[in-house]
Amino acid sequence: MIYFDYAATTPVDNRVLNAMIPYFRESYGNPSSIHRYGQKAETAVDDAREKVASVLHCSPEEILFTSCGSESDNLALRGAALAKRKTSGEKRILTAGNEHHAVGKTAIQLEKEFGFLLEWLDLDEYGAVTPASLAKAVCSDAVLTSVMYANNEIGTINPIKELAEIAHSNSIIFHTDAVQAAAYLDVDVVTLGVDLMSLGGHKFYGPKGVGVLYVRKGTKLIPHLTGGGQEFGLRAGTQNVPYIVGFAEALRLTAEERESRTAHVRTLRDQIVGCVLEEIPDSKLTGHPEKRLPNHASFVFKDVDGNLLLQMLDSAGFACSSGSACKTGNPEPSEVITSLGYSRDWALGSLRITLGVDSTSEHVDEFLKVMPGLVEKARKLNH
Ligand SMILES: *Cc1c(COP(=O)(O)O)cnc(C)c1O
Repeated sequence: MIYFDYAATTPVDNRVLNAMIPYFRESYGNPSSIHRYGQKAETAVDDAREKVASVLHCSPEEILFTSCGSESDNLALRGAALAKRKTSGEKRILTAGNEHHAVGKTAIQLEKEFGFLLEWLDLDEYGAVTPASLAKAVCSDAVLTSVMYANNEIGTINPIKELAEIAHSNSIIFHTDAVQAAAYLDVDVVTLGVDLMSLGGHKFYGPKGVGVLYVRKGTKLIPHLTGGGQEFGLRAGTQNVPYIVGFAEALRLTAEERESRTAHVRTLRDQIVGCVLEEIPDSKLTGHPEKRLPNHASFVFKDVDGNLLLQMLDSAGFACSSGSACKTGNPEPSEVITSLGYSRDWALGSLRITLGVDSTSEHVDEFLKVMPGLVEKARKLNH
């Protein structure tokens, strides 16, 4: 079986696992305890916070550990929107229709249940939010804007620095979901100029179930988990020490090895894109051709059932993904793909191939050998 779904999750790096292990049984103290067990655990969390801060180029007090990327998105949107409205009265949230559901559904909940107003930003043909699109949408009652750094389904990278500048010149808080981007792109918050940024450990060879929210000093949040005073009083609950240690080590390695990892996957990715578009009729690349994640290839094939193609690929030994939210029954095309303007006969046939450190050119060759035949077979079965 060949794994081509690194955008869904990645295996834990052995070096990360080794860093985590002592904190399960040897140094298992509660970081909030006064005794030496507690002190040791607290030191581990403090060290991890400093490690993350040094990659993000911020101070450790601006790093909150959470339980996942989704939680970071939830805390950023709900926490900042509620806190700022309290003082400013502003209630408009600007975001895009192709955000991860952790942002999109949270924004919709803020509208439905909390009385905020939602403004959907225009997307270009590659699924990007352009500076012009945000400039058009800014208004005096906007409290927060949230735009993802890179899209998980189509790989497109957004111009975060420019977007954050526009938000700031209109006194709007800027959040970015960098959960998918962090595996390959620079997450220096000084360069990006963001107020809030979400990360999740399992997208860059760290464990599942741990995330980070960067909160720029001075950005107020209403906590959504209340209780103990952990994480500067913004996120109650005993810290998950081994996972936090793992997150920090995985992020450090990702930053250190960024160039070689990028070069490795980019070559393989370009081979897949070139070959698929050339050899498979009625195929198109989704997302931006250049401004996209280096490990990310995503396509639509006309008159193909994307879920059937995934099952056929699975039988042939390849683990890939589609954009479709529905696994069985009456499939609906993904909102991310339809927002690019594709009609149903194209949008239902989406496929995402995402590469990682263990991908090889042999994997790619094997894949390219079977793909044209599988698409042809899927097309026949579609009629
Ligand atoms: C995976 C992902 C998330 C969710 O992260 P979890 O840690 O799985 O909760 C959010 N946003 C994007 C863009 C993602 O790719």
